[in-house]
Amino acid sequence: MFLSGKRALVTGSTSGIGLAIARALKAQGAEVLLTGFGEPEAIAALCEELGAMHVSADLTLTEGVERLMAEAGAVDVLVNNAGMQHVAPVESFPPEKWDAIIALNLSAAFHTARLAVPHMKDAGWGRIINVASAHSLVASPYKAAYVAAKHGIVGLTKVLALELAEAGITANCISPGYVWTPLVENQIPDTMAARGMTREQVMHDILLAKQPTKKFVAVDEVAAMALFLCGDAAQNINGANWSVDGGWTAE
Ligand code: NAD
Repeated sequence: MFLSGKRALVTGSTSGIGLAIARALKAQGAEVLLTGFGEPEAIAALCEELGAMHVSADLTLTEGVERLMAEAGAVDVLVNNAGMQHVAPVESFPPEKWDAIIALNLSAAFHTARLAVPHMKDAGWGRIINVASAHSLVASPYKAAYVAAKHGIVGLTKVLALELAEAGITANCISPGYVWTPLVENQIPDTMAARGMTREQVMHDILLAKQPTKKFVAVDEVAAMALFLCGDAAQNINGANWSVDGGWTAE
């Protein structure tokens, strides 16, 4: 249980990849702090399962992030995972969706990091893990805000890595390909509309077409990478962007 005595905050941990990461960190002894939206009963059940506190905050708002970090207190492992997607051609991409996606998928990670780093520096140890995407390395049409935010978080991660390296803190990205979660399932209708395709066509000709394995990545595979980055064996892995995408970005 190599994370005993460490406190871990995983944003977007009420669902999908974030929940899998929270479970993996807890299994190694970390005290886990949950945040994200969901049905109150489902969140209460997760808190019970993980012995965790939950803070509800809209992380598209700077003040939402600031309240989250104030309630979370000292954090040793920070996983910036909360994210959203919107699929539309650039000329009809709603400006408010652009603003929200940049705020959540990029700016929130800056705000959590700036507020978590003082404690990590005092402790002489910290792990910052940013869940980016294959879309941090390559683009797809109709995803202007998401691709911009995910490319941006790689840059932020590199800066954090350089600034914090001597303090015993590492910052890295994990970049999954398509993982079967609500985020992917919910973009299917808009992709059908944007491309004039059926659901089956979107699944096989758009999503799985990207992945040489022709299979979705599992949330536990992304969580295993996050766990590895927390360990001593990863203390010299810093500023990197780890693909977990079945080979998508090798093309
Ligand atoms: P998900 O939709 O299952 O979970 C998203 C989480 O973010 C939820 O807990 C949700 O409540 C939270 N969230 C959404 N809006 C929020 C807001 N305004 N404020 C605070 N929290 C908010 O998504 P997922 O697929 O598990 O995605 C998690 C991360 O992984 C995202 O950053 C996403 O971009 C990235 N990712 C996902 C895939 C994929 O195929 N699923 C691939 C690559 C990268």
